[in-house]
This record gives sequence, structure tokens and C-alpha cells, in this order.
Amino acid sequence: MKTAAFVRHAPRTVEETLAILADVAPKHGRILAGGQSLVPIMAFRMADPAHLVDINNVDGLDRLSIDGDELSIGALVRHAAFHRPVVDGPLGRLMSVVAHNIAHYAIRSRGTFCGSLAHADPASEWCLVAATLGAKLVVKSKRGDRTVMADDFLSGIMSTSLAEDELLAEARIPLLPEATRFGFYEFSRRAGDFAMAAALVTYQVEGGLVVEPRLGIGGAEGKSRRIPEAEAALKGQAPSFQTFKMAADAAADAIEPLEDHLTSGEYRRDLVRAVTERALHRALNAN
Ligand SMILES: Cc1cc2nc3c(=O)[nH]c(=O)nc-3n(C[C@H](O)[C@H](O)[C@H](O)COP(=O)(O)OP(=O)(O)OC[C@H]3O[C@@H](n4cnc5c(N)ncnc54)[C@H](O)[C@@H]3O)c2cc1C
Repeated sequence: MKTAAFVRHAPRTVEETLAILADVAPKHGRILAGGQSLVPIMAFRMADPAHLVDINNVDGLDRLSIDGDELSIGALVRHAAFHRPVVDGPLGRLMSVVAHNIAHYAIRSRGTFCGSLAHADPASEWCLVAATLGAKLVVKSKRGDRTVMADDFLSGIMSTSLAEDELLAEARIPLLPEATRFGFYEFSRRAGDFAMAAALVTYQVEGGLVVEPRLGIGGAEGKSRRIPEAEAALKGQAPSFQTFKMAADAAADAIEPLEDHLTSGEYRRDLVRAVTERALHRALNAN
């Protein structure tokens, strides 16, 4: 199907973008970034924005840089930018591993990191990374700038705290200390499909014990989030089969699983147990 008619705006600067957004947002205007989520839903007539503010020509939004102890990711940085590590150390390797699980090559070449966060699919890999690692999100509008933690930004299925006239201009992810171990594991029915459950874990080992564990689950609930019960099961324990099993059980027990006509809640809970345990083993063995 074809999309409904719309007016395309093509600003060149962030200031121009915000001015146009302020004008067209109340008239059913939306930002167009990579178009890999928005255009298909427009083609299916599940969305029919009257105005598209195309940010692909806006100066500076493709900036990917290290600022102090954070990796800064501008609104036009594509998924494919992370195919190879963008920064030395565990964060660069982690994001490269995760990036290869997002859709297919063509989609990764156009889709953006920030677009994924704004779209807020529960199965988005970048939402899981942002929530687990405590990303700060820089949001701009004509009314001013604000910075939101990823966990507060993501509010539910395809739902965020972004107002209609706001641009998610940048995501800032803390660099990980060199000794950080990480593990990512997702389950989907076919390569490139959205994950039915995914787990991301980071921790360090000091004196033979797990310190500073972060364990996030995506694809299983309305939004990606850290699971404090599973982190508590890891903290201060030796990284062993038994510890990992207890953490995986804690994660499975803690979630309120999404259900649909193909997937029961109990099946998804089981998947969470499996992906968590596998991510934990990957963290121990792979880096
Ligand atoms: C077949 C297929 C498979 C896919 N598989 C996966 C997958 O496995 N994992 C995954 O995570 N994604 C997957 N995707 C989605 C893909 O990753 C998209 O690129 C991503 O969800 C949205 O990014 P985008 O830049 O394309 O955003 P767009 O499609 O341009 O926009 C999506 C939404 O976000 C808003 N938006 C975009 N950027 C901003 C911004 N900077 N500020 C404010 N609002 C903004 C738009 O207005 C729109 O509402 C898949 C897509 C397809 C078509």
C-alpha cells in the first residue's frame, strides 16, 4: 500500500528543526529519521502524519564521539556505525555484538540508534542497552533542553516521555571500565526477527566475587529494564553455574511477561530464564 499524503520538511540545522517541529507537531507532525519503523507503518496506514520533519540533512546530528567518560551518539547515527567497535574497551565491543542482532544489513544501514529509542519497541536491542547501562538522553525543543535517564524515558510499549514537539538529539552512554565483563543473548524465531526475549549483563569480578552487576531484560515486558532481583542474586557471589542459575530464576520470576496469540506468558518467562543464564555464561567465558 502507499502512504497517505504528507508534507515533507527538510531542515538543515537543529534550531530550524525545533522551530518546524513546534509549528507542525500540533498538526499531526512527526520526525523522520531512518524511516525503518515509521515508513512501514505509514505504508500500512497505521500512521498517517500530515507533516514529516526529515532530519537526515541536519548538520551535526551524525556526531559519534567520546565526551569525557561517555559515548555520545547523535540522532542520525545509524545502527551500522556500531558494526565495528566505535570505542576501545568493553563498551565498543558490547555495542558491536548487540548491533549485529538488529534486523538485517539494509535496515541497519538506515535505521538510527536514537530512532530506536524514540520508537520504543519492547524488543529493541538499543532500548535494552540504554536501560541496562544507564544512558542519559538529551531531548531538545523550542521550549528548551532536558536530560532524561533511559529508564524514565521508556514508559511502555512504543511509548516514551517525549513530547510531540521534542527531538531526541543525543544519547550518552557511560564508558565501561576495562575490567567489565559483558554478555548478550537474544532469542528470535529467525535471524533478523525481533527478539522474543533478550538479556544483557555486565559485571566485574574482584577477589573472585561479582561486583557492580547490571542485568537488563528486553523483549519480554512492555519495556526493557534492569531486574534488581537478579542483580541481587549475583552481587557478592562467585560467578558459578549455581549463581547464574539463581539469577536467571530471579529474572524469570520478576518479570510480568507479554503475551500474544503465539506466545504464552509462561513460555516467555522460560525464555527469560534461558537468555539470562546464557548471557551470564557469555560474560564469564567470552571476554
Ligand atoms: C523488517 C524489520 C525488522 C526490524 N528488526 C528490528 C530488530 O530486530 N531490532 C530493532 O531494534 N529494530 C528492528 N527494526 C526497526 C529498526 O531498528 C528501526 O530502524 C528503528 O526502530 C527506528 O529507527 P529509525 O531511525 O528508522 O526511525 P524512524 O522509522 O524514522 O522513526 C521511528 C519513530 O521514532 C520517531 N523518531 C525517530 N527519530 C527521532 C528522534 N531523534 N527524536 C524524536 N523522535 C524520533 C519518529 O517520529 C517515529 O515515530 C526492524 C525494522 C524492520 C522494517
